[in-house]
Amino acid sequence: MKKIQMVDLKGQYEGIKDIVNPSIQEVIENTAFINGPKVHQFQKNLEDYLGVKHVIPCANGTDALQIAMMGLGLKPGDEVITADFTFAATVEVIALLQLTPVLVDVNEDDFNINVEAIKKAITPKTKAIVPVHLFGQCTDMEAILEIAKEHNLYVIEDNAQAIGASYTYKDGTKVKAGTIGDVGATSFFPSKNLGCYGDGGAIFTNNDKLAHTIRGIVNHGMYERYHHDVVGVNSRLDSIQAVVLEAKLPRLNSYNKARQQAAKKYNEAFKGHDKIVTPVITASCKEICDACDCHVFHQYTLKLKGVDRDGLVKHLNENGIPCGVYYPIPLHKQKAYADERYDENDFKITNTLVKEVVSLPMHTELDDEQIDFITTTIINYVNE
Ligand SMILES: *Cc1c(COP(=O)(O)O)cnc(C)c1O
Repeated sequence: MKKIQMVDLKGQYEGIKDIVNPSIQEVIENTAFINGPKVHQFQKNLEDYLGVKHVIPCANGTDALQIAMMGLGLKPGDEVITADFTFAATVEVIALLQLTPVLVDVNEDDFNINVEAIKKAITPKTKAIVPVHLFGQCTDMEAILEIAKEHNLYVIEDNAQAIGASYTYKDGTKVKAGTIGDVGATSFFPSKNLGCYGDGGAIFTNNDKLAHTIRGIVNHGMYERYHHDVVGVNSRLDSIQAVVLEAKLPRLNSYNKARQQAAKKYNEAFKGHDKIVTPVITASCKEICDACDCHVFHQYTLKLKGVDRDGLVKHLNENGIPCGVYYPIPLHKQKAYADERYDENDFKITNTLVKEVVSLPMHTELDDEQIDFITTTIINYVNE
């Protein structure tokens, strides 16, 4: 059996080596390392793929979130609501801009931000909601857009984990995750569903004016050479990363399909085990089907009921099976983001999830033998 990896970037590279190697070489020969034609080409192709008017590439996903918030003109003291159960980058940039983060609980089934909790957290100071499409599945965007409209709030999608996923409105219209709110942010960190070979990120919007503002912000607040109209940042995607992404973008759908196939095999193996809860698809299709792209499985995350989770993690590691606990600590309990306004009773789901979740190896190169070994090892441990 091939060595099991949490993410197999080398295996995926083997399939695109013949495209990636000469194009990296070409960038080196042409020396257009930053903001060259390759970056522009990738930007256009990603706009087409997502069906969004503007993609603005930047240096990483954390910057993408920060720049999106700067572009919307959010000001210190403005309250921004986001999920308690996510990667820290989301809340970090809110705090960094001296906005006030307001963390709220998530859903038990899809791990995404809870709509009722958002409603409860809204105050006259609330200016924006940041839903995170966690683990590859879209948040209930229609409900969030409705709340946002009612209270005049911006919606900033953290789409670092769900690029390529679709969201279906009640009327059947399908749109790509990250293009639904006022602005979306994504990451091209190597292990993400569309990852480069270093850091990278992008911002998406259909709003022409906001796109213009953001294009200046990523480039030191310049709209005309050496005229700095606003305080900006230096955040760019380099050409070497752009050619890697350019090679992977046409394969993104098949990469996501490979993840879904692995998820389907995991699901089948765990079927009927009452201590193992497999990922729930909350979109109307309710299952992973061939036509389905409502969940792109950035992570395949189980909930364990009445199982020593940390014992299982140790057992898996001892058997050569890497796994991850995303995320082990609720953000509202992190030193940097704790706030006496928070009431533990408002975080019942997150407080439970952090003890129950475990994410299994998930990437485009998993084979049946590996999946069998992983699932058998888990089931044997749980049945002990
Ligand atoms: C990875 C990630 C980010 C940050 O992206 P970087 O490119 O690492 O800065 C933000 N939010 C979520 C949910 C992520 O998973």
